[in-house]
Amino acid sequence: MNQHIHCIVSDCHYWNQGNKCHANEILVATDKFGASQPDKVDASMATQLTPESAGTCMETCCKSFIPKGSNKATADNISKMS
Ligand code: SF4
Repeated sequence: MNQHIHCIVSDCHYWNQGNKCHANEILVATDKFGASQPDKVDASMATQLTPESAGTCMETCCKSFIPKGSNKATADNISKMS
């Protein structure tokens, strides 16, 4: 379990008690990238992606967010750790 990523987005599939992210990996991206790419483009493809500038924290997002209960939880090839 990755205990180094803290997150307060409680409606995410990967969120857990103590405000911990239980995804085995995540992708942080610019809002522009996050809004334009499908769910399958995520952390597992990170080495193939082109880095880009955000400017402020307001323009970044967690691309790996999946709403709790979503039927797309496996679309990004990210695993939920116990
Ligand atoms: S995948 Fe992103 S939004 Fe979801 S719990 Fe982890 S850090 Fe938070």
